[in-house]
Amino acid sequence: MPSSTETSNHPGAELVTGASVIGCKTITDAQGRVFHATDPTRGTELATDYFPASDAQIDHSCVQAWEAFHDLQQRPPDDRAQLLHAIASEIIGLGEPLLHLASAETGLGHMRLLAERDRTTTTLAAFAELVREGGWVNASIDLGDSKRKPVPKPDLRRMLRPLGPVVVFGAANFPLAYSTGGGDTASALAAGCPVIVKGHPAHPGTGEAVAHAIAKAIKNLRMHPGTFSFLHAGGQRVNTIGERLVLNPCVRAVGFTGSINGGMAIAELAASRTDPIPVFAEMGSTNPVFVLPKALAQQGKNIAERLYTSVVNSTGQMCTCPGLIFVPRADETESFIRLIAARMDENDPMPMLSAGVRSNFVRRLREVSGVKGVDLRGGSPQSGVIRGDALTCSPVIYRTTLEIFRDQQTLHEECFGPATIVVVCEDGKQLAEAATLIQGSLVGSIFAAGHDAGLARQIQTILEQRVGRIVYNGVPTSVEPCASMVHGGPFPATNQPHSTAVGPYAIERWCRPMCYQNAPEAMLPTELHDANPLRIRRLVDGVWSVAPI
Ligand code: NAP
Repeated sequence: MPSSTETSNHPGAELVTGASVIGCKTITDAQGRVFHATDPTRGTELATDYFPASDAQIDHSCVQAWEAFHDLQQRPPDDRAQLLHAIASEIIGLGEPLLHLASAETGLGHMRLLAERDRTTTTLAAFAELVREGGWVNASIDLGDSKRKPVPKPDLRRMLRPLGPVVVFGAANFPLAYSTGGGDTASALAAGCPVIVKGHPAHPGTGEAVAHAIAKAIKNLRMHPGTFSFLHAGGQRVNTIGERLVLNPCVRAVGFTGSINGGMAIAELAASRTDPIPVFAEMGSTNPVFVLPKALAQQGKNIAERLYTSVVNSTGQMCTCPGLIFVPRADETESFIRLIAARMDENDPMPMLSAGVRSNFVRRLREVSGVKGVDLRGGSPQSGVIRGDALTCSPVIYRTTLEIFRDQQTLHEECFGPATIVVVCEDGKQLAEAATLIQGSLVGSIFAAGHDAGLARQIQTILEQRVGRIVYNGVPTSVEPCASMVHGGPFPATNQPHSTAVGPYAIERWCRPMCYQNAPEAMLPTELHDANPLRIRRLVDGVWSVAPI
Protein backbone atom coordinates (compact mmCIF):
# COMPACT_ATOMS: atom_id res chain seq x y z
CA MET A 1 0.00 0.00 0.00
CA PRO A 2 1.17 3.58 -0.57
CA SER A 3 3.24 4.78 2.36
CA SER A 4 2.77 8.52 2.16
CA THR A 5 1.24 11.35 0.18
CA GLU A 6 3.52 13.61 -1.82
CA THR A 7 3.24 17.17 -0.71
CA SER A 8 4.73 18.76 -3.80
CA ASN A 9 3.11 18.87 -7.20
CA HIS A 10 3.72 15.99 -9.55
CA PRO A 11 4.54 15.80 -13.27
CA GLY A 12 1.62 16.94 -15.39
CA ALA A 13 -0.34 18.26 -12.39
CA GLU A 14 -1.05 21.44 -14.36
CA LEU A 15 -3.27 19.43 -16.74
CA VAL A 16 -5.80 18.40 -14.09
CA THR A 17 -8.28 19.83 -11.60
CA GLY A 18 -9.45 16.65 -9.84
CA ALA A 19 -13.01 17.20 -11.06
CA SER A 20 -15.11 15.26 -13.55
CA VAL A 21 -15.71 16.64 -17.05
CA ILE A 22 -19.44 16.48 -17.70
CA GLY A 23 -20.99 17.81 -20.87
CA CYS A 24 -17.64 19.50 -21.56
CA LYS A 25 -17.76 21.37 -18.23
CA THR A 26 -15.49 20.76 -15.26
CA ILE A 27 -17.86 20.15 -12.36
CA THR A 28 -16.75 19.71 -8.75
CA ASP A 29 -20.00 18.54 -7.09
CA ALA A 30 -18.61 15.30 -5.67
CA GLN A 31 -19.70 12.44 -3.43
CA GLY A 32 -17.48 10.40 -1.09
CA ARG A 33 -13.93 11.04 0.03
CA VAL A 34 -11.25 12.32 -2.33
CA PHE A 35 -8.85 9.75 -3.72
CA HIS A 36 -5.33 9.90 -5.14
CA ALA A 37 -3.25 8.26 -7.82
CA THR A 38 -0.15 6.35 -6.74
CA ASP A 39 3.32 6.54 -8.21
CA PRO A 40 4.07 2.78 -8.49
CA THR A 41 7.82 3.32 -8.75
CA ARG A 42 7.90 4.81 -5.25
CA GLY A 43 4.68 3.66 -3.64
CA THR A 44 3.72 7.23 -2.79
CA GLU A 45 0.40 8.92 -3.44
CA LEU A 46 0.46 11.84 -5.88
CA ALA A 47 -0.70 15.17 -4.52
CA THR A 48 -3.77 15.91 -6.67
CA ASP A 49 -7.11 15.33 -4.92
CA TYR A 50 -9.62 13.59 -7.18
CA PHE A 51 -13.34 13.94 -6.46
CA PRO A 52 -15.48 10.88 -7.26
CA ALA A 53 -18.55 11.72 -9.33
CA SER A 54 -21.82 12.08 -7.44
CA ASP A 55 -25.03 10.24 -8.34
CA ALA A 56 -26.45 13.51 -9.68
CA GLN A 57 -23.40 13.98 -11.92
CA ILE A 58 -23.69 10.42 -13.26
CA ASP A 59 -27.36 10.86 -14.09
CA HIS A 60 -26.73 14.28 -15.63
CA SER A 61 -23.98 12.95 -17.89
CA CYS A 62 -26.35 10.22 -19.14
CA VAL A 63 -29.19 12.64 -19.92
CA GLN A 64 -26.74 14.94 -21.71
CA ALA A 65 -25.44 12.01 -23.74
CA TRP A 66 -28.99 11.07 -24.74
CA GLU A 67 -29.63 14.59 -26.01
CA ALA A 68 -26.30 14.62 -27.83
CA PHE A 69 -27.17 11.33 -29.52
CA HIS A 70 -30.11 12.95 -31.27
CA ASP A 71 -28.00 15.95 -32.20
CA LEU A 72 -25.28 13.72 -33.68
CA GLN A 73 -27.82 11.87 -35.82
CA GLN A 74 -28.90 15.14 -37.45
CA ARG A 75 -25.34 16.01 -38.46
CA PRO A 76 -23.46 14.82 -41.56
CA PRO A 77 -20.85 12.09 -40.98
CA ASP A 78 -18.12 14.58 -41.81
CA ASP A 79 -18.77 16.37 -38.49
CA ARG A 80 -17.75 13.22 -36.66
CA ALA A 81 -14.67 12.86 -38.83
CA GLN A 82 -13.67 16.43 -38.01
CA LEU A 83 -14.24 15.78 -34.32
CA LEU A 84 -12.03 12.68 -34.29
CA HIS A 85 -9.21 14.51 -36.06
CA ALA A 86 -9.59 17.46 -33.67
CA ILE A 87 -9.43 15.16 -30.63
CA ALA A 88 -6.20 13.64 -31.97
CA SER A 89 -4.69 17.13 -32.40
CA GLU A 90 -5.75 18.22 -28.92
CA ILE A 91 -4.22 15.09 -27.36
CA ILE A 92 -0.94 15.74 -29.17
CA GLY A 93 -1.24 19.37 -28.01
CA LEU A 94 -1.06 18.20 -24.39
CA GLY A 95 2.57 17.48 -25.19
CA GLU A 96 5.15 16.04 -22.84
CA PRO A 97 3.23 16.85 -19.62
CA LEU A 98 0.61 14.21 -20.57
CA LEU A 99 3.32 11.58 -20.96
CA HIS A 100 4.98 12.59 -17.68
CA LEU A 101 1.63 12.44 -15.89
CA ALA A 102 0.82 9.00 -17.35
CA SER A 103 4.26 7.76 -16.39
CA ALA A 104 3.91 9.06 -12.83
CA GLU A 105 0.56 7.27 -12.44
CA THR A 106 1.42 3.95 -14.09
CA GLY A 107 5.19 3.49 -13.86
CA LEU A 108 5.23 2.87 -17.63
CA GLY A 109 8.27 4.29 -19.42
CA HIS A 110 8.37 7.37 -21.61
CA MET A 111 9.03 5.49 -24.87
CA ARG A 112 6.21 3.04 -24.24
CA LEU A 113 3.81 5.91 -23.50
CA LEU A 114 4.97 7.88 -26.53
CA ALA A 115 4.21 4.87 -28.71
CA GLU A 116 0.88 4.42 -26.96
CA ARG A 117 -0.08 8.05 -27.52
CA ASP A 118 0.79 7.70 -31.22
CA ARG A 119 -1.30 4.56 -31.38
CA THR A 120 -4.21 6.47 -29.81
CA THR A 121 -4.05 9.42 -32.19
CA THR A 122 -3.50 7.16 -35.20
CA THR A 123 -6.60 5.18 -34.21
CA LEU A 124 -8.66 8.38 -33.89
CA ALA A 125 -7.48 9.51 -37.34
CA ALA A 126 -8.19 6.08 -38.85
CA PHE A 127 -11.78 6.14 -37.57
CA ALA A 128 -12.16 9.70 -38.89
CA GLU A 129 -11.21 8.51 -42.38
CA LEU A 130 -13.45 5.46 -42.06
CA VAL A 131 -16.40 7.74 -41.31
CA ARG A 132 -15.48 10.03 -44.19
CA GLU A 133 -15.26 7.15 -46.65
CA GLY A 134 -18.64 5.96 -45.37
CA GLY A 135 -18.79 2.39 -46.70
CA TRP A 136 -18.54 0.96 -43.15
CA VAL A 137 -22.35 1.28 -42.77
CA ASN A 138 -22.71 -1.80 -45.06
CA ALA A 139 -25.58 -0.27 -47.01
CA SER A 140 -27.69 -2.53 -49.17
CA ILE A 141 -30.68 -1.72 -51.33
CA ASP A 142 -33.17 -4.17 -52.81
CA LEU A 143 -35.39 -2.20 -55.16
CA GLY A 144 -39.13 -2.75 -55.07
CA ASP A 145 -41.14 -4.19 -57.94
CA SER A 146 -44.81 -3.35 -57.85
CA LYS A 147 -45.48 -5.61 -60.85
CA ARG A 148 -44.03 -8.77 -59.36
CA LYS A 149 -46.42 -11.73 -59.26
CA PRO A 150 -48.00 -13.16 -57.23
CA VAL A 151 -47.15 -10.38 -54.74
CA PRO A 152 -45.37 -7.06 -55.32
CA LYS A 153 -41.80 -6.85 -54.02
CA PRO A 154 -41.26 -4.15 -51.38
CA ASP A 155 -38.38 -1.66 -51.55
CA LEU A 156 -35.96 -2.67 -48.77
CA ARG A 157 -32.91 -0.70 -47.63
CA ARG A 158 -30.56 -1.66 -44.85
CA MET A 159 -27.55 -0.14 -43.08
CA LEU A 160 -25.84 -0.02 -39.70
CA ARG A 161 -27.24 2.59 -37.30
CA PRO A 162 -25.73 3.71 -33.96
CA LEU A 163 -27.07 2.22 -30.72
CA GLY A 164 -26.97 5.36 -28.56
CA PRO A 165 -24.80 6.51 -25.62
CA VAL A 166 -21.92 4.16 -24.80
CA VAL A 167 -20.19 3.81 -21.42
CA VAL A 168 -16.47 3.03 -21.63
CA PHE A 169 -14.42 1.29 -18.92
CA GLY A 170 -10.70 1.33 -19.74
CA ALA A 171 -8.00 -0.97 -18.36
CA ALA A 172 -5.13 -0.04 -16.05
CA ASN A 173 -2.46 -1.25 -18.47
CA PHE A 174 -3.20 1.06 -21.43
CA PRO A 175 -3.82 4.51 -19.89
CA LEU A 176 -4.09 6.08 -23.35
CA ALA A 177 -4.86 3.49 -26.04
CA TYR A 178 -7.55 1.53 -24.11
CA SER A 179 -8.74 4.33 -21.87
CA THR A 180 -10.41 7.75 -22.06
CA GLY A 181 -9.59 8.58 -25.68
CA GLY A 182 -8.69 5.06 -26.79
CA GLY A 183 -10.13 2.60 -29.28
CA ASP A 184 -13.55 2.17 -27.64
CA THR A 185 -14.17 5.93 -27.42
CA ALA A 186 -12.88 6.54 -30.95
CA SER A 187 -14.98 3.78 -32.51
CA ALA A 188 -18.13 4.74 -30.58
CA LEU A 189 -17.88 8.43 -31.54
CA ALA A 190 -17.18 7.37 -35.13
CA ALA A 191 -20.39 5.33 -35.13
CA GLY A 192 -22.34 8.35 -33.87
CA CYS A 193 -22.61 7.29 -30.22
CA PRO A 194 -21.89 9.81 -27.44
CA VAL A 195 -19.44 8.43 -24.87
CA ILE A 196 -19.32 8.52 -21.08
CA VAL A 197 -15.99 7.32 -19.69
CA LYS A 198 -15.86 5.78 -16.22
CA GLY A 199 -12.40 6.98 -15.16
CA HIS A 200 -9.90 4.33 -14.13
CA PRO A 201 -8.91 4.81 -10.48
CA ALA A 202 -5.27 3.93 -11.22
CA HIS A 203 -4.71 6.76 -13.73
CA PRO A 204 -7.28 9.47 -12.92
CA GLY A 205 -5.06 12.37 -13.99
CA THR A 206 -4.24 10.89 -17.38
CA GLY A 207 -7.92 10.22 -17.92
CA GLU A 208 -8.95 13.72 -16.93
CA ALA A 209 -6.26 15.39 -19.06
CA VAL A 210 -7.41 13.50 -22.14
CA ALA A 211 -11.03 14.32 -21.26
CA HIS A 212 -10.19 18.05 -21.32
CA ALA A 213 -8.66 17.58 -24.78
CA ILE A 214 -11.82 15.87 -26.04
CA ALA A 215 -14.06 18.52 -24.46
CA LYS A 216 -12.01 21.27 -26.11
CA ALA A 217 -12.39 19.66 -29.53
CA ILE A 218 -16.17 19.36 -29.05
CA LYS A 219 -16.48 22.99 -27.93
CA ASN A 220 -14.36 24.31 -30.80
CA LEU A 221 -16.52 22.47 -33.31
CA ARG A 222 -19.71 23.66 -31.55
CA MET A 223 -21.03 20.16 -31.21
CA HIS A 224 -23.43 19.10 -28.45
CA PRO A 225 -21.55 19.19 -25.10
CA GLY A 226 -23.12 15.89 -24.02
CA THR A 227 -21.20 14.13 -26.80
CA PHE A 228 -18.58 13.25 -24.21
CA SER A 229 -18.30 13.06 -20.41
CA PHE A 230 -15.64 11.74 -18.08
CA LEU A 231 -16.43 10.73 -14.51
CA HIS A 232 -13.82 10.35 -11.82
CA ALA A 233 -14.24 7.09 -9.92
CA GLY A 234 -12.19 5.76 -7.05
CA GLY A 235 -11.74 5.57 -3.30
CA GLN A 236 -14.93 4.73 -1.41
CA ARG A 237 -17.03 4.95 -4.57
CA VAL A 238 -15.18 2.05 -6.21
CA ASN A 239 -17.56 0.00 -8.43
CA THR A 240 -20.66 2.03 -7.55
CA ILE A 241 -20.15 4.70 -10.21
CA GLY A 242 -19.69 2.12 -12.95
CA GLU A 243 -22.73 0.19 -11.75
CA ARG A 244 -24.97 3.26 -11.74
CA LEU A 245 -23.84 4.13 -15.25
CA VAL A 246 -24.54 0.65 -16.60
CA LEU A 247 -28.06 0.71 -15.13
CA ASN A 248 -28.96 4.16 -16.49
CA PRO A 249 -31.74 3.88 -19.10
CA CYS A 250 -30.04 6.40 -21.43
CA VAL A 251 -27.01 4.10 -21.78
CA ARG A 252 -27.38 1.71 -24.72
CA ALA A 253 -24.07 -0.21 -24.75
CA VAL A 254 -20.88 -0.73 -22.74
CA GLY A 255 -17.24 -1.17 -23.75
CA PHE A 256 -15.06 -2.79 -21.10
CA THR A 257 -11.36 -3.63 -21.03
CA GLY A 258 -10.05 -5.21 -17.85
CA SER A 259 -10.22 -8.29 -15.67
CA ILE A 260 -12.51 -11.29 -16.12
CA ASN A 261 -14.21 -10.63 -12.77
CA GLY A 262 -14.83 -6.98 -13.62
CA GLY A 263 -16.02 -7.71 -17.16
CA MET A 264 -18.41 -10.44 -16.09
CA ALA A 265 -19.79 -8.33 -13.21
CA ILE A 266 -20.57 -5.55 -15.69
CA ALA A 267 -22.03 -7.96 -18.27
CA GLU A 268 -24.28 -9.57 -15.63
CA LEU A 269 -25.43 -6.16 -14.43
CA ALA A 270 -26.27 -5.07 -17.98
CA ALA A 271 -28.17 -8.33 -18.53
CA SER A 272 -30.16 -7.77 -15.32
CA ARG A 273 -31.74 -4.55 -16.63
CA THR A 274 -35.38 -4.65 -17.65
CA ASP A 275 -34.01 -3.69 -21.09
CA PRO A 276 -30.68 -5.61 -21.25
CA ILE A 277 -27.96 -3.84 -23.23
CA PRO A 278 -24.88 -5.28 -24.96
CA VAL A 279 -21.53 -5.29 -23.16
CA PHE A 280 -18.37 -5.80 -25.17
CA ALA A 281 -15.85 -6.99 -22.60
CA GLU A 282 -12.20 -7.63 -23.48
CA MET A 283 -10.86 -9.61 -20.52
CA GLY A 284 -8.14 -12.11 -19.57
CA SER A 285 -6.05 -14.20 -21.92
CA THR A 286 -3.17 -16.72 -21.61
CA ASN A 287 -1.98 -16.45 -25.23
CA PRO A 288 -0.42 -19.93 -25.62
CA VAL A 289 2.76 -20.46 -27.62
CA PHE A 290 3.54 -23.79 -29.31
CA VAL A 291 7.19 -24.44 -30.14
CA LEU A 292 7.25 -27.44 -32.49
CA PRO A 293 10.14 -29.98 -32.60
CA LYS A 294 12.05 -28.76 -35.67
CA ALA A 295 11.71 -25.11 -34.67
CA LEU A 296 13.00 -25.92 -31.18
CA ALA A 297 15.98 -27.82 -32.60
CA GLN A 298 16.89 -25.22 -35.21
CA GLN A 299 15.98 -21.89 -33.54
CA GLY A 300 15.47 -22.69 -29.86
CA LYS A 301 17.94 -20.05 -28.65
CA ASN A 302 16.43 -17.29 -30.75
CA ILE A 303 12.86 -18.25 -29.80
CA ALA A 304 13.79 -18.30 -26.10
CA GLU A 305 15.19 -14.76 -26.33
CA ARG A 306 12.09 -13.48 -28.15
CA LEU A 307 9.77 -15.10 -25.66
CA TYR A 308 11.69 -13.67 -22.72
CA THR A 309 11.38 -10.16 -24.22
CA SER A 310 7.68 -10.70 -24.87
CA VAL A 311 6.98 -11.91 -21.31
CA VAL A 312 8.72 -8.96 -19.60
CA ASN A 313 7.41 -6.31 -22.04
CA SER A 314 5.71 -3.59 -19.93
CA THR A 315 6.26 -5.76 -16.83
CA GLY A 316 4.18 -8.48 -18.48
CA GLN A 317 1.09 -6.30 -18.11
CA MET A 318 -0.03 -6.85 -21.67
CA CYS A 319 -3.29 -8.56 -22.61
CA THR A 320 -1.24 -10.52 -25.19
CA CYS A 321 1.58 -11.62 -22.85
CA PRO A 322 2.58 -15.26 -23.56
CA GLY A 323 1.47 -16.98 -20.33
CA LEU A 324 1.82 -20.58 -21.54
CA ILE A 325 4.59 -22.12 -23.64
CA PHE A 326 4.17 -25.69 -24.89
CA VAL A 327 7.36 -27.47 -25.95
CA PRO A 328 8.18 -31.09 -26.92
CA ARG A 329 10.52 -33.19 -24.79
CA ALA A 330 13.82 -33.12 -26.73
CA ASP A 331 17.56 -32.69 -26.24
CA GLU A 332 17.16 -28.90 -26.42
CA THR A 333 14.15 -28.57 -24.09
CA GLU A 334 15.92 -27.97 -20.79
CA SER A 335 18.51 -25.57 -22.27
CA PHE A 336 15.61 -23.64 -23.89
CA ILE A 337 13.97 -23.21 -20.46
CA ARG A 338 17.34 -22.36 -18.85
CA LEU A 339 17.92 -19.56 -21.37
CA ILE A 340 14.64 -17.83 -20.49
CA ALA A 341 15.22 -18.45 -16.77
CA ALA A 342 18.74 -16.99 -16.92
CA ARG A 343 17.48 -13.81 -18.58
CA MET A 344 14.79 -13.50 -15.91
CA ASP A 345 17.30 -14.01 -13.10
CA GLU A 346 19.32 -11.06 -14.45
CA ASN A 347 16.25 -8.83 -14.50
CA ASP A 348 15.95 -5.88 -12.13
CA PRO A 349 12.65 -5.61 -10.27
CA MET A 350 10.07 -3.81 -12.42
CA PRO A 351 7.19 -1.59 -11.29
CA MET A 352 3.64 -2.87 -11.63
CA LEU A 353 0.70 -0.62 -12.45
CA SER A 354 -1.02 -0.53 -9.09
CA ALA A 355 -1.22 -2.17 -5.68
CA GLY A 356 -4.28 -4.10 -6.89
CA VAL A 357 -2.56 -5.47 -10.00
CA ARG A 358 0.48 -6.42 -7.93
CA SER A 359 -1.43 -8.19 -5.17
CA ASN A 360 -3.42 -10.08 -7.80
CA PHE A 361 -0.14 -11.14 -9.45
CA VAL A 362 1.33 -12.29 -6.13
CA ARG A 363 -1.87 -14.24 -5.37
CA ARG A 364 -1.80 -15.96 -8.77
CA LEU A 365 1.90 -16.88 -8.38
CA ARG A 366 1.10 -18.40 -5.01
CA GLU A 367 -1.66 -20.50 -6.58
CA VAL A 368 0.60 -21.68 -9.42
CA SER A 369 3.57 -22.38 -7.10
CA GLY A 370 1.28 -24.41 -4.86
CA VAL A 371 0.60 -27.03 -7.55
CA LYS A 372 2.62 -30.21 -7.01
CA GLY A 373 4.70 -30.88 -10.10
CA VAL A 374 5.11 -27.22 -11.03
CA ASP A 375 8.77 -26.19 -10.60
CA LEU A 376 10.17 -22.70 -10.45
CA ARG A 377 12.99 -22.32 -12.99
CA GLY A 378 13.78 -18.60 -12.87
CA GLY A 379 12.86 -15.30 -11.21
CA SER A 380 11.28 -14.71 -7.83
CA PRO A 381 7.79 -16.06 -7.12
CA GLN A 382 7.44 -13.87 -4.06
CA SER A 383 7.62 -10.88 -6.38
CA GLY A 384 8.77 -9.52 -3.11
CA VAL A 385 11.86 -7.79 -4.37
CA ILE A 386 10.42 -4.67 -2.89
CA ARG A 387 12.50 -1.54 -3.18
CA GLY A 388 11.35 0.81 -0.50
CA ASP A 389 7.60 0.83 -1.00
CA ALA A 390 7.73 0.53 -4.78
CA LEU A 391 5.13 -1.75 -6.30
CA THR A 392 7.70 -3.94 -8.02
CA CYS A 393 7.85 -7.56 -9.10
CA SER A 394 10.27 -9.94 -10.77
CA PRO A 395 9.58 -12.06 -13.84
CA VAL A 396 8.96 -15.75 -13.23
CA ILE A 397 9.17 -18.93 -15.30
CA TYR A 398 7.78 -22.29 -14.21
CA ARG A 399 8.13 -25.75 -15.72
CA THR A 400 5.58 -28.51 -15.63
CA THR A 401 4.38 -31.40 -17.77
CA LEU A 402 1.18 -31.95 -19.71
CA GLU A 403 0.13 -34.64 -17.19
CA ILE A 404 0.07 -31.99 -14.47
CA PHE A 405 -1.32 -29.22 -16.68
CA ARG A 406 -4.20 -31.39 -17.88
CA ASP A 407 -5.80 -31.64 -14.44
CA GLN A 408 -4.89 -28.35 -12.77
CA GLN A 409 -7.40 -25.68 -13.76
CA THR A 410 -5.43 -22.91 -12.04
CA LEU A 411 -2.61 -23.39 -14.57
CA HIS A 412 -5.06 -22.67 -17.40
CA GLU A 413 -5.91 -19.20 -16.08
CA GLU A 414 -4.33 -15.81 -16.75
CA CYS A 415 -1.53 -14.71 -14.44
CA PHE A 416 -1.49 -10.98 -15.24
CA GLY A 417 2.16 -9.93 -15.01
CA PRO A 418 5.60 -11.15 -16.18
CA ALA A 419 5.05 -14.88 -15.65
CA THR A 420 5.01 -17.84 -17.98
CA ILE A 421 4.58 -21.59 -17.54
CA VAL A 422 6.50 -23.94 -19.82
CA VAL A 423 4.55 -27.16 -20.31
CA VAL A 424 6.69 -30.05 -21.54
CA CYS A 425 4.81 -32.43 -23.84
CA GLU A 426 6.03 -35.98 -24.61
CA ASP A 427 5.37 -35.80 -28.36
CA GLY A 428 3.36 -34.16 -31.13
CA LYS A 429 0.22 -35.95 -29.96
CA GLN A 430 0.50 -34.28 -26.56
CA LEU A 431 1.23 -30.88 -28.15
CA ALA A 432 -2.02 -31.20 -30.11
CA GLU A 433 -3.85 -32.32 -26.98
CA ALA A 434 -2.48 -29.25 -25.14
CA ALA A 435 -4.14 -27.03 -27.74
CA THR A 436 -7.51 -28.61 -26.88
CA LEU A 437 -7.06 -27.77 -23.19
CA ILE A 438 -6.41 -24.04 -23.32
CA GLN A 439 -9.00 -21.40 -22.46
CA GLY A 440 -10.29 -18.95 -25.04
CA SER A 441 -7.48 -16.48 -25.82
CA LEU A 442 -6.84 -13.37 -27.84
CA VAL A 443 -3.94 -14.97 -29.68
CA GLY A 444 -1.94 -18.16 -30.07
CA SER A 445 1.55 -18.55 -31.56
CA ILE A 446 3.04 -21.48 -33.45
CA PHE A 447 6.79 -21.70 -34.01
CA ALA A 448 7.28 -24.21 -36.81
CA ALA A 449 10.03 -25.17 -39.27
CA GLY A 450 10.43 -27.77 -42.04
CA HIS A 451 8.86 -31.07 -41.00
CA ASP A 452 6.69 -29.34 -38.38
CA ALA A 453 4.14 -28.41 -41.08
CA GLY A 454 1.77 -31.35 -40.50
CA LEU A 455 1.66 -30.84 -36.72
CA ALA A 456 1.35 -27.07 -37.19
CA ARG A 457 -1.73 -27.60 -39.37
CA GLN A 458 -3.25 -29.91 -36.78
CA ILE A 459 -2.65 -27.38 -33.96
CA GLN A 460 -3.90 -24.50 -36.11
CA THR A 461 -7.20 -26.35 -36.71
CA ILE A 462 -7.66 -26.71 -32.95
CA LEU A 463 -6.57 -23.13 -32.19
CA GLU A 464 -9.09 -21.75 -34.70
CA GLN A 465 -11.73 -22.78 -32.13
CA ARG A 466 -9.90 -21.15 -29.23
CA VAL A 467 -8.18 -17.91 -30.26
CA GLY A 468 -8.90 -14.76 -32.28
CA ARG A 469 -5.51 -14.58 -34.01
CA ILE A 470 -2.85 -17.18 -34.91
CA VAL A 471 0.73 -15.95 -35.22
CA TYR A 472 3.37 -17.98 -37.07
CA ASN A 473 6.98 -17.79 -35.91
CA GLY A 474 6.35 -14.70 -33.81
CA VAL A 475 5.41 -13.73 -30.28
CA PRO A 476 1.81 -12.84 -29.37
CA THR A 477 2.55 -9.32 -28.13
CA SER A 478 2.22 -6.40 -30.59
CA VAL A 479 -1.19 -5.75 -32.12
CA GLU A 480 -1.24 -4.03 -35.51
CA PRO A 481 -4.32 -1.78 -35.88
CA CYS A 482 -5.70 -2.54 -39.36
CA ALA A 483 -8.72 -4.08 -41.08
CA SER A 484 -7.37 -7.63 -40.93
CA MET A 485 -6.60 -7.52 -37.20
CA VAL A 486 -8.81 -9.47 -34.81
CA HIS A 487 -8.36 -8.46 -31.18
CA GLY A 488 -10.95 -10.69 -29.65
CA GLY A 489 -11.57 -14.37 -29.09
CA PRO A 490 -13.69 -16.92 -27.26
CA PHE A 491 -14.48 -16.56 -23.56
CA PRO A 492 -12.78 -15.56 -21.31
CA ALA A 493 -10.70 -13.44 -23.72
CA THR A 494 -13.98 -11.68 -24.51
CA ASN A 495 -17.67 -12.20 -23.87
CA GLN A 496 -18.49 -11.48 -27.56
CA PRO A 497 -16.23 -13.68 -29.70
CA HIS A 498 -17.64 -12.38 -32.98
CA SER A 499 -16.24 -8.88 -32.39
CA THR A 500 -12.87 -7.13 -32.40
CA ALA A 501 -11.73 -4.23 -30.22
CA VAL A 502 -8.97 -3.18 -32.65
CA GLY A 503 -9.21 -2.15 -36.29
CA PRO A 504 -12.07 -0.59 -38.28
CA TYR A 505 -14.53 -3.42 -37.60
CA ALA A 506 -14.53 -2.34 -33.92
CA ILE A 507 -17.09 0.29 -34.97
CA GLU A 508 -19.71 -2.39 -35.65
CA ARG A 509 -19.96 -3.13 -31.90
CA TRP A 510 -21.84 0.15 -31.40
CA CYS A 511 -24.39 -0.35 -34.18
CA ARG A 512 -27.21 -2.59 -35.21
CA PRO A 513 -28.60 -3.26 -38.67
CA MET A 514 -31.72 -1.27 -39.48
CA CYS A 515 -34.10 -2.01 -42.36
CA TYR A 516 -36.41 0.56 -44.01
CA GLN A 517 -39.27 -0.86 -46.04
CA ASN A 518 -40.99 1.31 -48.67
CA ALA A 519 -39.70 4.43 -46.86
CA PRO A 520 -40.08 7.76 -48.70
CA GLU A 521 -36.65 9.06 -49.77
CA ALA A 522 -36.94 12.06 -47.42
CA MET A 523 -37.27 9.67 -44.46
CA LEU A 524 -34.15 7.67 -45.31
CA PRO A 525 -30.64 8.29 -44.01
CA THR A 526 -28.51 9.97 -46.70
CA GLU A 527 -26.50 6.78 -47.21
CA LEU A 528 -29.62 5.10 -48.64
CA HIS A 529 -30.78 7.87 -50.99
CA ASP A 530 -31.13 6.91 -54.64
CA ALA A 531 -28.60 9.51 -55.75
CA ASN A 532 -25.94 8.14 -53.36
CA PRO A 533 -24.70 11.67 -52.58
CA LEU A 534 -21.96 10.34 -50.25
CA ARG A 535 -20.70 8.06 -53.07
CA ILE A 536 -20.42 5.07 -50.75
CA ARG A 537 -20.16 1.46 -51.87
CA ARG A 538 -23.57 -0.23 -51.66
CA LEU A 539 -25.00 -3.63 -52.53
CA VAL A 540 -27.79 -2.77 -54.97
CA ASP A 541 -29.93 -5.72 -56.02
CA GLY A 542 -26.99 -7.98 -55.20
CA VAL A 543 -24.32 -5.99 -57.09
CA TRP A 544 -21.72 -3.75 -55.42
CA SER A 545 -21.88 -0.21 -56.77
CA VAL A 546 -21.08 3.42 -55.97
CA ALA A 547 -23.32 4.69 -58.78
CA PRO A 548 -26.64 6.45 -58.21
CA ILE A 549 -29.74 4.35 -58.83
P1 NAP B 1 -10.15 -4.22 -13.69
O1 NAP B 1 -9.71 -4.27 -12.30
O2 NAP B 1 -11.20 -5.18 -14.12
O3 NAP B 1 -10.67 -2.71 -13.93
C1 NAP B 1 -11.14 -2.24 -15.17
C2 NAP B 1 -12.24 -1.21 -14.92
O4 NAP B 1 -13.44 -1.86 -14.49
C3 NAP B 1 -11.91 -0.21 -13.84
O5 NAP B 1 -12.46 1.05 -14.21
C4 NAP B 1 -12.64 -0.75 -12.63
O6 NAP B 1 -12.96 0.31 -11.76
C5 NAP B 1 -13.89 -1.35 -13.24
N1 NAP B 1 -14.45 -2.48 -12.48
C6 NAP B 1 -13.79 -3.62 -12.15
N2 NAP B 1 -14.63 -4.45 -11.50
C7 NAP B 1 -15.83 -3.80 -11.42
C8 NAP B 1 -17.10 -4.15 -10.86
N3 NAP B 1 -17.30 -5.32 -10.24
N4 NAP B 1 -18.10 -3.26 -10.96
C9 NAP B 1 -17.92 -2.07 -11.58
N5 NAP B 1 -16.73 -1.69 -12.11
C10 NAP B 1 -15.71 -2.54 -12.03
O7 NAP B 1 -8.93 -4.44 -14.70
P2 NAP B 1 -7.49 -3.70 -14.67
O8 NAP B 1 -6.74 -4.21 -13.50
O9 NAP B 1 -7.68 -2.28 -14.81
O10 NAP B 1 -6.79 -4.25 -15.99
C11 NAP B 1 -6.02 -5.44 -16.03
C12 NAP B 1 -6.78 -6.56 -16.74
O11 NAP B 1 -7.20 -6.10 -18.02
C13 NAP B 1 -5.97 -7.80 -17.02
O12 NAP B 1 -6.68 -8.94 -16.60
C14 NAP B 1 -5.79 -7.83 -18.53
O13 NAP B 1 -5.66 -9.07 -19.13
C15 NAP B 1 -7.02 -7.12 -18.98
N6 NAP B 1 -6.87 -6.51 -20.29
C16 NAP B 1 -7.50 -7.07 -21.36
C17 NAP B 1 -7.35 -6.53 -22.63
C18 NAP B 1 -8.05 -7.14 -23.79
O14 NAP B 1 -8.11 -6.54 -24.83
N7 NAP B 1 -8.60 -8.32 -23.67
C19 NAP B 1 -6.58 -5.38 -22.81
C20 NAP B 1 -5.96 -4.81 -21.71
C21 NAP B 1 -6.14 -5.39 -20.45
P3 NAP B 1 -13.05 0.15 -10.19
O15 NAP B 1 -11.74 -0.41 -9.77
O16 NAP B 1 -13.32 1.53 -9.73
O17 NAP B 1 -14.21 -0.76 -9.92
